[in-house]
Amino acid sequence: MANRGRLFVISGPAGAGKTEIVKKLLEKHPDVRLSVSCTTRAPRPGEVNGVNYHFVTEERFKELIDQDAFYEWAHVHQNHYGTLKATVQNELAEGHDLILEIDVQGCLQAMAQDSSVTGIFVCPPSRENLEQRLRHRGTETEESIRVRLNNVASEVATAYKYHYVIIHQDWSDVPNALEIAADEVYAVITAKRLEIENRRDFLDHLNASLRK
Ligand code: 5GP
Repeated sequence: MANRGRLFVISGPAGAGKTEIVKKLLEKHPDVRLSVSCTTRAPRPGEVNGVNYHFVTEERFKELIDQDAFYEWAHVHQNHYGTLKATVQNELAEGHDLILEIDVQGCLQAMAQDSSVTGIFVCPPSRENLEQRLRHRGTETEESIRVRLNNVASEVATAYKYHYVIIHQDWSDVPNALEIAADEVYAVITAKRLEIENRRDFLDHLNASLRK
């Protein structure tokens, strides 16, 4: 039987680049799986049901809450988002390491309910950098930049609760910043795979064979 997979939750403020990092990681390492969440928000152009999200109605989402079908769920930007228990259970049972790319509330829930979950927080290198990225988009008013920076402040204040912190440098300072950040996430996954807990069966077998 395959060893059980491990669960990783990754979060960080909008603009820190967690989605691009996870995308790069999956391109380089198809052995890692990404969980597909349920959401009540409408699909964006190009998004595919069952691939980017399971798009569901508010009624269906509430039913799933009542059925206790969610591993974690949260209300983010006027919409509901949740990870199905079945997704987590099936992937881990099949021996796959699974990443949940979810908001801070969801990560804190997951880490609080299960001590075997590894939390990874993605940070921008500085306030100035984040502010610059928000301004460069050109779509934000001064007021909305201020609101977003305040939200970031409260999110970054929770970073101490995670196990690992990845600083996503700006590509203008570090041209391969994305590659480095994706490699760092994979380094965390690799380290968890090598932990003694995951090596016991192998060691028992090796030791038994050496004693023969
Ligand atoms: P978006 O609508 O831009 O795809 O995602 C908005 C936010 O919801 C992002 O921070 C994303 O990480 C978060 N999110 C996506 N899926 C889930 C989920 O299943 N649970 C939680 N708690 N947050 C999620």
